Amino acid sequence: MTDLFPLSDRARALRERLERFMAEVVLPGEAEYHAHLEDPANRWTIPPVMERMKAQAREAGLWNLFLPHPELGAGLSNLEYAPLAEVMGRSLIAPEVFNCNAPDTGNMEVLLHFGSPAQQERWLKPLLAGEIRSAFAMTEPDVASSDATNIAARIERDGGDYVVHARKWWTTGATDPRCKLFIVMGVTDPDAPPHARHAMVLVPADAPGVKVVRPLTVFGYDDAPHGHAEVRFDAVRVPAENLILGEGRGFEIAQGRLGPGRIHHCMRLIGLAQRALEAMVARAQSRIAFGKPLAAQGMAQEAIALSRCEIEQARLLTLSAAAQLDRVGNKGAKDAIGMIKIVAPRMACAVIDRAIQVHGGMGVSQDSFLAHAYAGARSLRLADGPDEVHIAALAKGMARPPR
Ligand SMILES: Cc1cc2nc3c(=O)[nH]c(=O)nc-3n(C[C@H](O)[C@H](O)[C@H](O)COP(=O)(O)OP(=O)(O)OC[C@H]3O[C@@H](n4cnc5c(N)ncnc54)[C@H](O)[C@@H]3O)c2cc1C
Repeated sequence: MTDLFPLSDRARALRERLERFMAEVVLPGEAEYHAHLEDPANRWTIPPVMERMKAQAREAGLWNLFLPHPELGAGLSNLEYAPLAEVMGRSLIAPEVFNCNAPDTGNMEVLLHFGSPAQQERWLKPLLAGEIRSAFAMTEPDVASSDATNIAARIERDGGDYVVHARKWWTTGATDPRCKLFIVMGVTDPDAPPHARHAMVLVPADAPGVKVVRPLTVFGYDDAPHGHAEVRFDAVRVPAENLILGEGRGFEIAQGRLGPGRIHHCMRLIGLAQRALEAMVARAQSRIAFGKPLAAQGMAQEAIALSRCEIEQARLLTLSAAAQLDRVGNKGAKDAIGMIKIVAPRMACAVIDRAIQVHGGMGVSQDSFLAHAYAGARSLRLADGPDEVHIAALAKGMARPPR
């Protein structure tokens, strides 16, 4: 942690407890978690070790740390949460252990900020307790979804109900057996201006007409048991009170959801890249090629040194974006969040790629966490908006072409 952004006493104490919990519970639990899922009969079931670790984390007060709300969450600022998310990011399974996993965190923020008391009672409560999971269904196979004005699903009013017609994909978490809720984005008023056409609606996973069509893979990883799925909503009928906030207000909700969500991904990527660097160093010290350890050879030295520089650059930018988010909110910190969303996934891909190279063949195999980590980091150059969209928005704000 850099001295430029000193930690509060509370965040420092939490980080120490979190690091101990990671070392004593989560990292040893990884093997049992993966062993459970390797049995094909268990593929889409929840490893019991996960629920055990969640109960322990909750008991230890390491729960909902992402949520700034003082009673419902830990009441931490983004700047205080950043180093904690970095610690969690070291393991692909850790965020869930602490109920700080996407997409539930973003969905909980939506329900907290925009949900009605009845919606909060039915859905936010069990999500905060880690009893259920949820999914966010915006992206569609048939339109370029990086431009969200293209989203074409329909949410049509019919008497006291809304009827949802949609084909979505990349709906993360849809295949999790504990997923009980979809937040679905679609058009309520096709004649309104582009940013006032859409709304978001709460769809129970067991509503008639909801069909999880197939799991998708990321470079061959199905990311079971949560997965990313293609999902159909065939004339799914929900009561009108399931609409969030109101017709035409989908973009307002999407903006509120993605500010903190984007930066949380970046915080975790710093931790993942740091773990890859540590693995790279350990391997370079222990592996002898052409008479000397890899660590004594220029190429490995360059990989190690550049990775350390790039991780620290990204860490500082993340902390700076978190501090801005605390000071001026989502809208004011838009550029800072855009910058770190451009920088962190590229940095993590570069560092993990170098770590793979230093590990040789082992690096791309199932015997190392690096291949799966690379798949995760690479997909974050797409998820929550591809690099190019953030690059275009950042440049547009700085250099408007003359009319
Ligand atoms: C692992 C994973 C998990 C995901 N989870 C979810 C989820 O839970 N819920 C959900 O709704 N979605 C999710 N997504 C989807 C993700 O948000 C979309 O893939 C992303 O927004 C891009 O949309 P698209 O795939 O339709 O690409 P398109 O919109 O077709 O864009 C394709 C490419 O065009 C280029 N491009 C786009 N705009 C510009 C521009 N302005 N300038 C230059 N080039 C441009 C970019 O290179 C972009 O990658 C997930 C994706 C992945 C890979």
